[in-house]
Amino acid sequence: MTDQSATGGCLCGRIRYTANGPPEWVAHCHCATCRHHVASPVATFVGYRHDQVRFEAGEPAIYRSSPDVERAFCPNCGTPLYYRSERHAGEIHLLIGTFDAPGAIAPQFHVYFQERLPWFDTADGLPRYAGTARGAGPM
Ligand SMILES: [Zn+2]
Ligand SMILES: [Zn+2]
Repeated sequence: MTDQSATGGCLCGRIRYTANGPPEWVAHCHCATCRHHVASPVATFVGYRHDQVRFEAGEPAIYRSSPDVERAFCPNCGTPLYYRSERHAGEIHLLIGTFDAPGAIAPQFHVYFQERLPWFDTADGLPRYAGTARGAGPM
């Protein structure tokens, strides 16, 4: 496997991170909570083990959308940065829009596809899961 280390950060540059090695998965989340956090039709996440990601600069602020869920953002410019939860213990889900080279990391599937916006027609052949990819099979 080639070196797939990636770097990224927030819009103002105060927060910077490095992700070492290939991600575990890359997915579009259509759930209403992610949509609200990123203020866009869909949130695209790159899943890593927590020990793969190091924050090199800045301190993200945390909003808890549920008691066990952390949604991080830059306290200066507001850029959403990542999702963490006890449900996915040991993982950090970085938002692909914060990567320096997001085009190098292709999504693999859709989760919470039943919550998608009706006018957001994604014309790809990727599997679509009604909930998480660990639940029932693709729709
Ligand atoms: Zn910032
Ligand atoms: Zn979501």
